[in-house]
Amino acid sequence: MLAAAWPPVSGSRRVTIGRVPIYEFRCEACGERFEALVAAGTDSVECRRCGSGRTARVLSAQAPPMHIVKTPGDTRKQEVKNAQLRERTRAEFTSARRRARERRPKGGSGG
Ligand SMILES: [Zn+2]
Repeated sequence: MLAAAWPPVSGSRRVTIGRVPIYEFRCEACGERFEALVAAGTDSVECRRCGSGRTARVLSAQAPPMHIVKTPGDTRKQEVKNAQLRERTRAEFTSARRRARERRPKGGSGG
C-alpha cells in the first residue's frame, strides 16, 4: 500500500535565483580577499584559497590608508578620520540596504 515515492517529487519546481548580492570577504587564516555570492545575512564563507572558515565580511570597499601613527596628535586625528569614514560608510550601507528593501514587492522574512 505504501508505494508512493518519498520524498514526493513535484513536477514543476521553479528555483528562482534573484539578485544575490556580492560580498567581499577576507580570510583571517591566509589574508586572502575574495568576493562571494551569498544570501543576505551571511557573515562568513569558506576561503577560496585555503578553505578556512575563519573569514569575515568586508563592509567597506575602501580601507583607510595604512600608515604608522607617531604622535598622540596624529592618533587623535586618525581617530576622527576613521569615525567620519565609518559614519559615511554606514550611511551609504544603510541607504543602499533601504533601497534594496524598497525594491522588493514584499517585506520578506529576515533581513
Ligand atoms: Zn584563506
